[in-house]
Amino acid sequence: MKRGELARRQASRSSRTIELSKERLEAGLLLEKFPQVSQITILATYYYDRTGPVLMVQTVNIFPNSSACFHFQCPKKDCTHGFDLSPDIVELVGKGGKSARGSAACGGDNGAGSPVHASISYEITVQYNSLNRHKKTGQKA
Ligand SMILES: [Zn+2]
Repeated sequence: MKRGELARRQASRSSRTIELSKERLEAGLLLEKFPQVSQITILATYYYDRTGPVLMVQTVNIFPNSSACFHFQCPKKDCTHGFDLSPDIVELVGKGGKSARGSAACGGDNGAGSPVHASISYEITVQYNSLNRHKKTGQKA
């Protein structure tokens, strides 16, 4: 039954999408979190496991009016864990850095007992808003 299968897949996908949009909503906007940043680019390379072949390469641009959610989905179907790059980005922007590299393994478990079933390596590039060099005005305590 191809139809039923498709419906089930769509249902699972949409519940995951709702979960993610809730997370994005709660994360707020990039300009709220990092008003000094004009753009963040993340080049992510996905691997099947810690050492496996490259699954895909993805470039994500995050703009001031984008969500400040840096949670990347795990490429494995039905895995809701994924990769949270927030700590790296907070640290990088916190020190005014322009780029950083790192890697992360998904902590999800498909029930197969394998602690690592997908990983990414990534390069984060941050561009800062030059206007922010001026003293902030209009901010009331
Ligand atoms: Zn996973």
